Amino acid sequence: MDKKEILREFSTDPDRYYKVKLFEEQGFVRKSCSKCKRFFWTLDSGREMCPEDSEDTYSFIGDPPTSKRFDYTQSWREVESFFVKNGHTSVSRYPVVCRWRDDLYFTIASIVDFQRVMGSKVVFEFPSNPLVVPQTCLRFKDLENVGVTGRHFSSFCMIGQHSIPNSDGYWKDECIDLDYRLLTEQFGIRKEEIVFVEDVWAGGGSFGSSLEYFVRGLELGNAVFTEFQGELGKHTTLDQRVIDMGAGLERFAWITMGTPTAYDCCFGPITKHLFEKIGIDSDSELLKKYFTEIAKGLENFDDLIDVRKYAVKNTGLTDEQLNRIITPLEGLYLIADHLRTLIFAISDGALPSNVGGGYNLRMILRRIIGTMNRMNLKLDLDELVDLHVDYLKDTYPELDSSREDVKLILKIESGRYEESKTRMEKIATKLKGREKSLTVDELITMYESDGITPDYLKELDVISEIPSTFYSKLSDLHQSDKKKDIETLPLEGLPETELLFYGNDPMEFEAKVLKVFGNSLVLDRTSFYARGGGQEPDHGIIVDSKVVDVNKHGGIVVHLLEGQIPKEGEIVKCKVDTERRQNITKNHTSTHILNSSTRNVLGSWVWQHSAFKEADHARLDITHHSPLSKKEITQIEDTANSIVQKNMSVTIENFDRGDAEQRYGFKIYQGGVVPVKSVRIVSIEDFDVEACGGTHVKATGEINLIKITKTKRIQDGVVRIEFVSGPTAHQYVKQQKEEGVKTAVESLQKQQIEKQREERKQKTREKIPILFEQISAINNGTHTIDEIEISIIDSIKFCFTSSDQYDEFFHINFGKKLTKNEPNSVYVGIFDSGPTIRVIVYAGEEASKTKNAGLIAKSASEILGGAGGGDAKFAQGGGKDTSKKDEAIAKAKSMILG
Ligand SMILES: [Zn+2]
Ligand SMILES: [Zn+2]
Repeated sequence: MDKKEILREFSTDPDRYYKVKLFEEQGFVRKSCSKCKRFFWTLDSGREMCPEDSEDTYSFIGDPPTSKRFDYTQSWREVESFFVKNGHTSVSRYPVVCRWRDDLYFTIASIVDFQRVMGSKVVFEFPSNPLVVPQTCLRFKDLENVGVTGRHFSSFCMIGQHSIPNSDGYWKDECIDLDYRLLTEQFGIRKEEIVFVEDVWAGGGSFGSSLEYFVRGLELGNAVFTEFQGELGKHTTLDQRVIDMGAGLERFAWITMGTPTAYDCCFGPITKHLFEKIGIDSDSELLKKYFTEIAKGLENFDDLIDVRKYAVKNTGLTDEQLNRIITPLEGLYLIADHLRTLIFAISDGALPSNVGGGYNLRMILRRIIGTMNRMNLKLDLDELVDLHVDYLKDTYPELDSSREDVKLILKIESGRYEESKTRMEKIATKLKGREKSLTVDELITMYESDGITPDYLKELDVISEIPSTFYSKLSDLHQSDKKKDIETLPLEGLPETELLFYGNDPMEFEAKVLKVFGNSLVLDRTSFYARGGGQEPDHGIIVDSKVVDVNKHGGIVVHLLEGQIPKEGEIVKCKVDTERRQNITKNHTSTHILNSSTRNVLGSWVWQHSAFKEADHARLDITHHSPLSKKEITQIEDTANSIVQKNMSVTIENFDRGDAEQRYGFKIYQGGVVPVKSVRIVSIEDFDVEACGGTHVKATGEINLIKITKTKRIQDGVVRIEFVSGPTAHQYVKQQKEEGVKTAVESLQKQQIEKQREERKQKTREKIPILFEQISAINNGTHTIDEIEISIIDSIKFCFTSSDQYDEFFHINFGKKLTKNEPNSVYVGIFDSGPTIRVIVYAGEEASKTKNAGLIAKSASEILGGAGGGDAKFAQGGGKDTSKKDEAIAKAKSMILG
């Protein structure tokens, strides 16, 4: 939908769309900006231009328009107490990891908290009406601005003021009245300073008018009145109109403090701590001037590089000042901002990785490390985490309990970065020689495949600037998963199947056939569990045919049969395979037990990534940073089995989704989003509570035993745990025992054989002097002594053996000794050595003149399919062709004996 067109339309009828009671009462006048023509409402009759074009833009820097000064924490207290005083419920923030929407990784606005997607429709579910929430929002689209512009953050607190107009809630008049009073009464801003600008909002098929409110050119908030749906002109009013007022808490603090940047008053003691490290005074006149010019530049230029140039020029900064003050300052702001974002994200269970939203987290941590390296800063991240959390816990007490987890994850992740540096350096060096500059897509590929950030490439001078579209493109790529296409089946007009497995769950039942297509069958009711939530389907029998698969399409269960297919209209007898169902059920409850066990053992970042439950095996994939150690596996298994032994009861209750979320938190969405208003909550006492549609045992004792069979890191940040439970687990243990006994016997046998061999070798070694004596005494004829053949022909004494009682040590020592002592002797040993046959040849001083050891070894080795070498007196070789052993022996003999 074209926003401009809607704005034009709405602005032609300001009485209908924009004029609220307050404007009338207070005497606000409607004006059109003399520069951009936009319409705005003001009490200042002299004002001619809209806030963005006005001369007073950002004049609050160094000169705040309020009599009171509130930092970030105090500002929230002011906002909260004002709205609570005026009938609102203050709701705790929702997680920044948006687990209740499968189209978003992170919470990007306060209204997202209350949106639930059902089919293609977005519905609103408010825990109270009206309400106010300090929602931390993560946005990675304009990372290049963070630290530089004074007002961009990768995470910020959106003050969400939300109302549904009914007997409890209110609509436009009261909303604007409240916002006006918040500014004037609570923050002490003069009413003439406040300007409301006419605008519209459109998205997700709906739209409405909005009023943005500004003070001194700073947009503090935007009150959106979501009212219509459809195409402009043909639109209808929504059944459920909603007020979505979002304001930046950081900006509220900034306007009262008048610091050079919003960073200076929103990170508590962090910025001061960092400034002291590098010795910068943040409160100087120069910075006030510079950042005011930056703000003006942002109104005039699209590209950040131009904005910065503009500000440098107008402030009259020298290069020296720029390098000594501004650049380090930008780095410090970046570090403080990115770290705060990581604290929220990791506390809420997200991990830096190379998948999904984890990409963005890894990116910002690498930017922190890169900035520290560039500035040659040695910062203790643990200390900074503590400073942040100590400051934030006033507003967000939940962060306190996960600070150690955050530190651990940051440490592991920083270590990974250091490890990959050598590889990154190599790639970067290669790129330096390239003529063509890198495209944005190439940069994205480099980050995705090698973890190389453009900041790093800039640091190494591979690129001169980071393209302005890089971060927004990366963020778009990793903002949401693409949804799968749904296959179409001929199910139109069929009623939803009655799901008996959620009722008294009979294992035998009768049902009517409503539809047959191919081998598929739809019944009016069924006890066959349909594949879902990682639980595999039931099998069994319908009439005489096997049920081999069961799937749910919308509310309709489709059974796939093998064999005779019943006819439509028939009443059929159905029987569920009970044993299979029981095993799957045990595995499913075990999955829940293991999931909480791993979280207890490993840390708060553990979430179920996915799960699979079959009858004879199951697996649970969890989010975790490293492979599991043996000790961790044992601890997890022990924890799980202690829950089994305690025989805890498993209860299933249905809740209204909003109630369930408020009561148990978002941890219930371990298996993903639940697209229905009523959620089925499966609790194992207070050990584990999950929203789940699967089948479960009544008490954990039924499982009897859980055994982990294998664990594996299957992707960055995800570990797979394969396991078995119940009878299968016992079988597994028995099998392991048997195998254990078998391997123990085998290894004992092996040891014995090895021992015997060693003993024999020792004996033959001891034999060397005796054999030497005996063989030396022989002067003629042919003899065999202890498997060594001795022949004397033409005054050459030839000794040969291929007995396996002799090893290399023997051949070398005996051959050497013999030929040294008897210059006319030749010694040849051919023997097995592992998979090969070895040849060792010695020839004495005299004998070597006619019987060359090297040639003999070479010829024999060639027959064995290998190679040999050496000199006339000593040579060795061998080959792998054991079938040619006899041939090789014959060849060696013939070369000596002729
Ligand atoms: Zn204007
Ligand atoms: Zn489940």
